[in-house]
Amino acid sequence: MGKHERHFKMNTNVFCNRTLNMKRINYIGLDMDHTLVRYHSANFEGLAHRIMREKLVQKKSYPKSILKLKFDFERAIRGLVIDKVKGNLLKLSRHTAIRVSSHGTEPIDYNKQNRIYKSTYIDIKDKNFDKVDTTFSIAFATLFAQLVDLKDGEEKSKLPDFVTIASDLNFVLDEAHRDGSLKDVVRSDLPQYIIKDPGIVAGLERYLKHNKKFFIATNSEYSYAKLLLDYTINPYLKGGRTWQDIFSYTIVKARKPNFFFEDTPFLRIDSSTGETSPLVGTLTPGIYECGNADQFTTELGLEPDEILYIGDHIYGDIVRLKKDCAWRTALVVEELDREVHGLKRAQPYIKRINALMEKKIPLEAGIDDLISRRIETGHNKNEKRINEMIKKSQELDKKISPLIKKQQSLFNPHWGEVMRVGIEESYFAYQVERFACIYMARLNHLLDVSPRTYFRSVKRPLPHELIVAN
Ligand code: IMP
Ligand code: MG
Repeated sequence: MGKHERHFKMNTNVFCNRTLNMKRINYIGLDMDHTLVRYHSANFEGLAHRIMREKLVQKKSYPKSILKLKFDFERAIRGLVIDKVKGNLLKLSRHTAIRVSSHGTEPIDYNKQNRIYKSTYIDIKDKNFDKVDTTFSIAFATLFAQLVDLKDGEEKSKLPDFVTIASDLNFVLDEAHRDGSLKDVVRSDLPQYIIKDPGIVAGLERYLKHNKKFFIATNSEYSYAKLLLDYTINPYLKGGRTWQDIFSYTIVKARKPNFFFEDTPFLRIDSSTGETSPLVGTLTPGIYECGNADQFTTELGLEPDEILYIGDHIYGDIVRLKKDCAWRTALVVEELDREVHGLKRAQPYIKRINALMEKKIPLEAGIDDLISRRIETGHNKNEKRINEMIKKSQELDKKISPLIKKQQSLFNPHWGEVMRVGIEESYFAYQVERFACIYMARLNHLLDVSPRTYFRSVKRPLPHELIVAN
């Protein structure tokens, strides 16, 4: 590695795709749900799973047997794609090739997958695919898979086709988020669903000392935002201060991702009554509803790259933002803690797999060489040697596959790593790399580092560069 190509290892839990100088950032925008406010995700998704089942029975006449379905938070991961026509869940590589799949909850093997999908590559924009872009979709994907199982089996005549199941699920989940059936339960038992974290408040206060300004842009409505912010922020502030003293602007019902590319006007919210009124004049610190990123940037007299927006929704917070707006981006990937932990524990297996592969690769090349000679010369004199070598290669495979299984068992039991699929990056990892300037498991990880940090992207060697380096 050349002198200028050395990677300077920083002891940080913040990972950098695109160089980001925090000294240049003056405004830090925060998504609320799953970013500023963390959830006990398994509990919340379990609740969503139950409420969806109840609504399907009440409003869509689904059989009562679905009320018995159990929720398993491990059943789906972020980044999965749901094939609504075929009733399948797909995990894609960065090139959108299907690499792991299930029909309902049943894994699909490689040969069957090839029969179902003529091309391994799918058009991700096809309207028949839904994506698990946020933790809020885990219960949806899980229940869809379970209902596909039932449709294939004992409840065949009582359930509609897969596309209708997906659309009914979308309907009931959307309604559950809007009609209070989810949020009223959260309100009645906050500790069960919401994580309180004094570290976040301490970090925000530290950044304020460096003259960084904060704003919130959330899709949640004011009453819910107030509930969660009163609960998670206020107890850790001294001197009677409230979250309104921390966040210069709080924008609720922001309608992201449209917030980043439409010109919806801002409405002012009266913090005591929650009532809205049209914005007269220009934006001044306070609480707003709707609005848009362009007006926000212009009226605050900011350059777009002085704003860093941090969110958890890969599409709504990050991908669309980057396509339409020049703010810098940070993604919270809550699965990353487990992923990094798993990677550390997987190292002994990876080392053994690599050592075995170092034996297998020359063996394979040797077999190909001998077979090529046989084809080209028409002589069979190496037949015995070829067979011995094939046997050796198969023995190596027998040693490698349990090691791969052990390595995979450190991650999600059904889908493996969120960011990887085999040796390739997952489609989710591709989106993170392409659209998020930095990413981390939790907001605290960013607030823990100095507000003067210069995040440098690491050099990613291309295949031909690796050959030269080796
Ligand atoms: P944010 O992450 O702070 O922007 O807020 C997300 C908001 O969207 C929360 O209030 C969720 O309850 C809400 N939400 C999540 N999924 C859905 C949905 O499918 N329909 C309607 N609202 C949703
Ligand atoms: Mg969010």
